[in-house]
Amino acid sequence: MSEQQAALEAKIYSYVGRDYGPQHAWDPVNAVMIRHWCEAMGDANPIYTDPAYEELKAAAVPVEGIVAPPTMLQAWTMKGYANQLPAGSCEDDAFEVLGLLEAAGFTGVVAVNCDQEYERYLQLGEKVYHHCKLESISEHKTTPLGEGYFVTVVYSFYVDDAEGNAEKVGSMLFRVLKFKPAHQAKPAEDSVSDKPASRKISRPKPGINRDNAFFWEGLKQGKLLIQKCIGCQTLRHPPGPMCPACNSLEWDTKQSTGKGTIYSYVNLHHPQVPPFDSPNPVALVELDEGTRLIGGLVGIKPKDVKIGLPVSVEITTEDDLTLALFRPDSLNSDTQA
Ligand code: ZN
Repeated sequence: MSEQQAALEAKIYSYVGRDYGPQHAWDPVNAVMIRHWCEAMGDANPIYTDPAYEELKAAAVPVEGIVAPPTMLQAWTMKGYANQLPAGSCEDDAFEVLGLLEAAGFTGVVAVNCDQEYERYLQLGEKVYHHCKLESISEHKTTPLGEGYFVTVVYSFYVDDAEGNAEKVGSMLFRVLKFKPAHQAKPAEDSVSDKPASRKISRPKPGINRDNAFFWEGLKQGKLLIQKCIGCQTLRHPPGPMCPACNSLEWDTKQSTGKGTIYSYVNLHHPQVPPFDSPNPVALVELDEGTRLIGGLVGIKPKDVKIGLPVSVEITTEDDLTLALFRPDSLNSDTQA
């Protein structure tokens, strides 16, 4: 271990075990945020939005009125875009140690775990707050993304009862990898190495399961397939076991022409993850058949990507992975990447 690394580790490990908090919620648990959450997530469970479903709810939770989806736990105490905290909150950031790693050249960051546990449902009017503990920092690790450290923070969420006693209502483990991107030039002091020459990094493999295997098999045969309900003919993507329109479990596929338009897009700048370029243009493409899917863009400079641009699928095989990319139909030659 270099002297520099030893000094860095002595500093970062001194943060382990630190407590941060409390961080208070801006608002008590409320129907407006719950409704927006349910709309955004497509969660139609009426116990979250309709007080008339007392009977249905009573079996799971014996309280009056609607309850919040447990998965909203973290939403109550989030800072929001303005990055401000309600009065009485701790100003220190539980991830402040990442700044030390950043300064030491570990510029990449990627979230690797998020595990939540719920003790009970939250009810309207409850004021949530959380405390964080920097639980652990791993030893120095070498990963496909680059060398770095795993940093784990555990959040504990509470509400106070009428007597002012804290009741734990849930917890969340959040782990990030802070790393030196593997494709970056190494600093001079690390230039003597017995590691093999850097190998080519492959694209991450998709998670293939029984619901979506047809999609990836179709691509291998050169076809872009869309799942189609046999019950009502509705097309859907991403794939799933049940038709959201008629609840039928019977499905077939339809081959797409592969033509569509850019419905929305992002140019990803960070984290810089090989083998992708930075910025990396990724589009949400609305196919002519009506469904939308996400795919990387080729043949265009990031600055020229526009909503509404006509694109066609380009089925590509890299290593042993066949995937759907999209290429703009017509562009001036000077804008082609
Ligand atoms: Zn259907």
